[in-house]
Amino acid sequence: MNVLDGRRFLGLLAREGFVEASSPEEAGLILLNTCSVRDKAEQKVYDRIGRLAKLKRDHPGTVLGVCGCVAQQEGESLLERLPHVDFVLGTGRIEALPSILRRVEEEGDRPCETGFDLDEVVYTPGAIARAVPHRAAITVIEGCNKNCTFCVVPRTRGRERNRRLRDVVNEAHRLIDEGALEIELLGQTVNAFRDPETGADLADLLHAVGALPGLRRLRFVTSHPRNFSRRLVAAMAETPAVVPALHLPVQSGSDAVLRRMKRQYARAEYLDLVAQLRDAIPGLALSTDVIVAFPGETADDFAATLSLLEEVRFAGVFSFTYSPRPQTAALRWEHDITPPEASERLARLEALQQDIQRELNRALEGQTLEVLVEGLDRKRRFSSGRSRCNRVVNIAGESALPPGTLVNVQIERGFPNSLLGRTQEQEREQETDKDSANGYPGDRQTLPDPGAARPLGISSNSF
Ligand code: SF4
Repeated sequence: MNVLDGRRFLGLLAREGFVEASSPEEAGLILLNTCSVRDKAEQKVYDRIGRLAKLKRDHPGTVLGVCGCVAQQEGESLLERLPHVDFVLGTGRIEALPSILRRVEEEGDRPCETGFDLDEVVYTPGAIARAVPHRAAITVIEGCNKNCTFCVVPRTRGRERNRRLRDVVNEAHRLIDEGALEIELLGQTVNAFRDPETGADLADLLHAVGALPGLRRLRFVTSHPRNFSRRLVAAMAETPAVVPALHLPVQSGSDAVLRRMKRQYARAEYLDLVAQLRDAIPGLALSTDVIVAFPGETADDFAATLSLLEEVRFAGVFSFTYSPRPQTAALRWEHDITPPEASERLARLEALQQDIQRELNRALEGQTLEVLVEGLDRKRRFSSGRSRCNRVVNIAGESALPPGTLVNVQIERGFPNSLLGRTQEQEREQETDKDSANGYPGDRQTLPDPGAARPLGISSNSF
């Protein structure tokens, strides 16, 4: 959602006649779109603002605005502490950017806008500078009514506000006309979506968007296990465009920790939901978020998380050590796990998960997967994209496929974080000339993982 917010800023500014500068030194306006989901991200913001103080001294006419979650969280106090910041704009006030700029430029004001509209998402679909035409994210719900005890999001994104189903469908329709093959529906708890007029839910929305001609892939993120209904499972299974990939944050495998986190489900309920989903959607790739070393997490609690990972066998896990956040319940609790202990637990969990992913990805060797090309791989050798099950797939011997191309790729190698294969056309060429090996010859043991260090999963607003 932060990435989409960045595109919203660019779109609104383009309407005002702004163009992107190639460096901060050249810019007349600098916006920092900030994240406060973990302490480290927040500290990076302050480092960056500190470095921009010098630039402001050298270029006094440059306007510097702090936007996003840190802006929402800190509000006026940012302006008090940081005299070189010209304005603060919270997550619920993005559309106010043009008027804020006028106040700064014409009235010499230092505004701070951080409120939320109570009932609905304020959103101008036409004013989003989309990065690529073939893949588009659409906000359907913003904010969160849960109060997980570790999470600052309800403070930085406010309470749930929904868009109307027909507005989302119209936006999806327009994006497909403009070339979108894949649409991702976004919300902090996207499966809590309810049309404010009709009460339609995410299952209805999947049916409606999934029926639009030309759409090849439909996904949604982030789901809360508590809001997953049987209707929604059925809608996923019945809608061909819905991809067999789902991000379903679990956070811990221990009931005691889940209770302290106020996650509103128990381990057995989560596992039941996984079984229902896998029954309904063959080949479903699940990814999740895990917090390690939450206050009070015992060795047994941690072992329960490891055993849950072994039981579910996620295709991807975003794992972090617990990060205390302002204005959260857990901040006040005694935290008796030392940083080295927390890091050691995280390393064990990551090692286990890498083994699971290696096994799951090797099991895909020999299969043919449809890949939506995104660009080149990290070493810029091969065209690279995502399968419907959201795996990174690098295409050996192929480096000129334009982003947005859909190709069928026969998987030859499975690595922990990516797959490697060839298009079917290449396969045929190879069969007619076995000697002209055109890409990745070699030995399984010594090959590097071309997708290593690239996150496998989808971007997530939880952690
Ligand atoms: S973790 Fe997710 S569900 Fe819980 S409060 Fe944060 S955004 Fe809401």
